[in-house]
Amino acid sequence: MRVIVVGAGIIGSAIALELRRRGAEVALIEGQAEGGHTSAASAGMVNPFSLTPHETPALPFYLHSLQMYPEWAHQLQSLTHIDVEWRQGGCLRVALTPADATHLSENFEWIRRYEPNATWLEPHAALERQPTLSNEIVGAIHLPSEGWVNTERLMRALHCAAQLSGVNLYTGTPALCLERLHNRVHGVRTALDIIEGDAVVVAAGAWASALLQPLGIHAPIEPVRGVILRLGDLLAPVKSILSSSMGYIVPRADGTVLMGATREQAGFDLRATAEGYAYLLQSLARIAPALLHATVIRHLVGLRPDTPDHSPYIGAIAGYEGLYLAAGHAYHGILMAPATARAVADMLLDGKTTLPIEPFDPNRFRR
Ligand SMILES: Cc1cc2nc3c(=O)[nH]c(=O)nc-3n(C[C@H](O)[C@H](O)[C@H](O)COP(=O)(O)OP(=O)(O)OC[C@H]3O[C@@H](n4cnc5c(N)ncnc54)[C@H](O)[C@@H]3O)c2cc1C
Repeated sequence: MRVIVVGAGIIGSAIALELRRRGAEVALIEGQAEGGHTSAASAGMVNPFSLTPHETPALPFYLHSLQMYPEWAHQLQSLTHIDVEWRQGGCLRVALTPADATHLSENFEWIRRYEPNATWLEPHAALERQPTLSNEIVGAIHLPSEGWVNTERLMRALHCAAQLSGVNLYTGTPALCLERLHNRVHGVRTALDIIEGDAVVVAAGAWASALLQPLGIHAPIEPVRGVILRLGDLLAPVKSILSSSMGYIVPRADGTVLMGATREQAGFDLRATAEGYAYLLQSLARIAPALLHATVIRHLVGLRPDTPDHSPYIGAIAGYEGLYLAAGHAYHGILMAPATARAVADMLLDGKTTLPIEPFDPNRFRR
């Protein structure tokens, strides 16, 4: 089977690699010189719980993907010799105010059903674990199963692994439109050529809807800008993810941290603004004021592909043969990548998957 995957972000690259590993012939088409700008700019948390505001039907899929991560990261590393810095160092989800604490304790009830090792910590116990935390925090949940990766390294590893495995990676090659005969999609038009295939997977992140609209397919995706600061020269190390209602801090293997993230409706504008910086520094002051002395090394900006219910579209597009969508992973694309890749490969090669993808029906908003 010959499959064309459009978009070499984490989702498209992971799908291309999985399909190739299972014997398909794969063309991965990327519009930019290097794909996955948003994926590389993300904080890299593999976190089913710490940013999830309430129990959601997506949780079984999140957990499945979390379980896949250690082996997935290990395989990428063995193949490419690029260390993606996978660490399962856990997370402290902290309450900054009494109202936060009430919300957190409500969340603790459902979190414990999925993560029996989660524990509630009083402020002194949380501060003992992580002395850089503000001494004004009101409580915390310790989530030992959460982890993180270095997404810049992960994206390099995925592109390298795809090429080493025999995926044909076309960079600097925007897909202009999908080619179809009646209701069968059989290829992708680029500026130079039509690339033909038995199936096309649209994995173009925040840009995916634009490719589908000409076929009358309504799968809304809006870009939500996120800015992150990378901080160095810390006075004390950060050992786990610190997450809160105002933002999060994620450690990196070299002793730096990421402070994220803004959530801005700014279209496709990729600037980091003074307002964004102000928000992030205010959050830092609330979560870990000791880190205000850190050096700002750089900022990162990405466009989250968000959907009306913040869940992705994963699966076959109804009414068309050979057309699949894997986009709209919003706030959880790094977490969900391994399971998304497996689910799409299952559907394409076996016609079905046992993974819990029911909440992600790509046809759910079609009129
Ligand atoms: C600041 C920030 C922090 C985040 N933190 C986390 C986190 O900690 N954990 C987590 O799980 N998620 C996180 N996310 C979300 C995560 O980054 C995204 O969900 C994920 O990167 C989406 O991946 P993608 O492959 O769908 O999109 P992208 O990475 O945007 O890739 C899509 C690719 O498609 C290409 N493309 C678009 N149109 C075309 C075309 N016509 N032809 C060819 N190519 C095309 C683009 O150039 C791009 O390379 C964060 C996001 C941001 C912005």
